[in-house]
Amino acid sequence: MKKIIAYILAAAVVVALVMAGRTTAIAGFDDTELTARQEEVHAAAELLRELGVVEEDPAIKALSAEWWRCESLLKAEYLGEFTVTGYDPYCTHCCGKADGVTASGALVTEGYTVAMCRDYPFGTKIYIEGLGIFEVQDRGVGPGHIDVACSSHSECYALTGHYEVWVIDNETN
Ligand SMILES: [Zn+2]
Repeated sequence: MKKIIAYILAAAVVVALVMAGRTTAIAGFDDTELTARQEEVHAAAELLRELGVVEEDPAIKALSAEWWRCESLLKAEYLGEFTVTGYDPYCTHCCGKADGVTASGALVTEGYTVAMCRDYPFGTKIYIEGLGIFEVQDRGVGPGHIDVACSSHSECYALTGHYEVWVIDNETN
């Protein structure tokens, strides 16, 4: 019984740590911070393993996913500063059509799909500072510009601005 309580407490701490750390580590986007975070996440996973938690457990899986997220960010290639705007993929004023089908053929995912110029192949994953991870699935903008698929026009206006951008190593995603 003690072991179960210890596990529940540890798992709760771990999940809280993963969720809290996601925001801080990604906002700083700093190699030292990311490496420290990987160690933290690894130590938490080791603690759970010592408590007898199996690899298939959601807490261990979440920690593993977090470790790999940090790893991909550590390997990311800095692209520079981009002008970022948003578009509503179901608005004819924004897109000239309203079917939500991107130039890649994939159905749009708001908050994940972005349009970039042809220098960036479909499937390229990018990190936009403070906004998160996105995938190039659409076209229609020139170099130095990223258009993010949003679920409303107010979201589009809210994110419009200049951001630092990285390409994330696709092999680790
Ligand atoms: Zn529109």
